[in-house]
Amino acid sequence: MRYDAIIVGGGSAGLSAAQALARARRRVLVVDAARPRNRFASAMHNVLGRDGTSPLQLLIDGRAELVRYPDASIVDGEAVDATRADAGFHVRLEDGRKFHSRTLVLATGVRDVLPEIEGLAARWGRSVLHCPYCHGFEIDRRAIGVLVGDAMGLHRALMLPDWGPTTCLLQDGFEPDADAQARLQRRGVVLERSPVVALLGTAPGLDGVRLADGRTLALSALFAGGRVLPASPVAEALGCAFEDGPQGPYLRVDATKQTSVPGVFAAGDLAAPMHTVTAAVAAGVLAGVGAHQALIAADCG
Ligand SMILES: Cc1cc2nc3c(=O)[nH]c(=O)nc-3n(C[C@H](O)[C@H](O)[C@H](O)COP(=O)(O)OP(=O)(O)OC[C@H]3O[C@@H](n4cnc5c(N)ncnc54)[C@H](O)[C@@H]3O)c2cc1C
Repeated sequence: MRYDAIIVGGGSAGLSAAQALARARRRVLVVDAARPRNRFASAMHNVLGRDGTSPLQLLIDGRAELVRYPDASIVDGEAVDATRADAGFHVRLEDGRKFHSRTLVLATGVRDVLPEIEGLAARWGRSVLHCPYCHGFEIDRRAIGVLVGDAMGLHRALMLPDWGPTTCLLQDGFEPDADAQARLQRRGVVLERSPVVALLGTAPGLDGVRLADGRTLALSALFAGGRVLPASPVAEALGCAFEDGPQGPYLRVDATKQTSVPGVFAAGDLAAPMHTVTAAVAAGVLAGVGAHQALIAADCG
């Protein structure tokens, strides 16, 4: 069967794109590896109507809503390749299955590149955090540390005092200039130059960090991360153009969410410099509408 659209990635963006297309009574297939970026967190925030609820439950509900539409289906699996062929696209899964569609929506998200520090990965999304808007309120004004090795980390260090007393933990030999140091001081941020070598306490909780000079520092939360890469090589293989963002590369899309490759649309973290669930939902709907409009244009000849 030739689908009108294949959506690669069934997170907030992909399921939203699929819903828009299914509601337009188009044949739509979602291919999903089911590893959303926020799966490490037990609750999500800043998502109206779902504040404090499980991020995985949102996607379970989204899948259930989608398959109620007669022309929508979901397959579990990972797309390893997508090529342009037969007036559309062929998508190949890691188990060899192949699917064919007239348009593609890429919603594969990004993966976080984490600093390699003992005990950090085991706490990711629980006491090691990346976004204060998502998880800062729950720290409840207790002691916060922030790993700072570049300008993005510095930006985060300046924000964090709104959520709790903040220590800026300089890493990788990074040294803020005099102006940045003055701004940190005005925000009440304490500077610590001995790098963090290990996280302390029983994961996923955090009691503090051990520094390279042997001292320990009591902390309730540590902010880290900030660097991301596309979760899948499919967009690159198709030849889609990327932009440079503050956190990493992201797909260039136009107002209809079409990438630089005609017929290929994209939404969510993969195609945006800033990342939230609600932004992914909104962009996903627009990508679904964009793909639908392209189908209509092709039908008109
Ligand atoms: C720890 C953490 C906590 C967060 N908490 C919040 C929060 O509280 N509130 C908030 O608004 N945002 C939060 N975010 C950001 C949020 O996770 C993202 O903005 C959101 O998940 C983006 O949705 P998406 O659909 O673009 O990507 P994702 O949710 O990552 O979904 C992408 C989907 O595509 C699949 N996929 C990838 N490659 C392939 C492939 N080749 N073939 C098939 N499927 C594939 C993945 O397995 C996944 O299911 C958090 C992020 C992190 C890291």
